[in-house]
Amino acid sequence: MSNNLAWKIDEGSKVHLKDYDPGYTDEHADHVKAMQELTDLNNELSDLQEILAAAQKQSLLIILQGMDTSGKDGTIRHVFSGINPQGCEVHAFKEPTPEELAHDFLWRIHKVAPAKGMMGIFNRSHYEDVLVVRVHNLVPEPIWSRRYKEINAFEKLLANNGTIVLKFFLHISYDEQERRLLARQQDKEKAWKLSASDWAERKYWKDYQRAYEDALSQCSTDEAPWYIIPANHKWYRNLAIAHTMVHTMQKYKDDWKQQLEVRGKAELEKLKQIKDQKK
Ligand code: AMP
Ligand code: MG
Repeated sequence: MSNNLAWKIDEGSKVHLKDYDPGYTDEHADHVKAMQELTDLNNELSDLQEILAAAQKQSLLIILQGMDTSGKDGTIRHVFSGINPQGCEVHAFKEPTPEELAHDFLWRIHKVAPAKGMMGIFNRSHYEDVLVVRVHNLVPEPIWSRRYKEINAFEKLLANNGTIVLKFFLHISYDEQERRLLARQQDKEKAWKLSASDWAERKYWKDYQRAYEDALSQCSTDEAPWYIIPANHKWYRNLAIAHTMVHTMQKYKDDWKQQLEVRGKAELEKLKQIKDQKK
């Protein structure tokens, strides 16, 4: 399997979402094989997380964004199922509370950024402040338009202090969203997921796509890259995200292990001294 199942956005490039096929699947992948591969990747993720947690050197922040029904919840269920809950925190960002609105837009985000050793998953994020906020004019343009730079500075601060930041845009098509909304409506078991406001938001599809294009273009940086995930096929979406995470974390694995070795040696040395004192 190639190293790239998702499209990484290079810093400074201009994104046009119509150039990215939401129905894309890698030629080597098929549904059945993908299930097996996902199981393997889940196991690998679990091992990598254990080392991340033990090394206490860095943290990992996963940001999930996408239109309604794009599969943010499903991703959390399927990709992170093998992860030790002790080392993982999920935060979902809804409409800000009055207290949150009384602060700068990054206040509620920064408070829950993952500590060293932790994996943090954001179901929506500070990007809503240049998406829904922009589409619905919740703040004036001069305020939202300067947020791209503020976001880049914030994410750089996180990265400089040991946070690995991965941002996934779950890319579905307009037709696929309709299929999913209708499925929720028709399936009594899924009706709880229904939100009448999702149909209302759908009217703003083009505005959202434009807002996403700007966020992806202006806020993909070397230290906090955006990945576009083809998400019309749920199995491929899961595979692409798990694969990108494993591939990224593997780059740090030796460093984390070395950290553990150094710490192990120091502890053994301390133990030896304690034993020697007793003699
Ligand atoms: P859901 O993810 O379906 O639970 O919906 C959460 C809702 O909160 C979505 O409609 C988001 O657009 C909305 N939301 C999240 N963050 C913000 C924000 N900063 N300002 C306004 N609405 C937001
Ligand atoms: Mg919703």
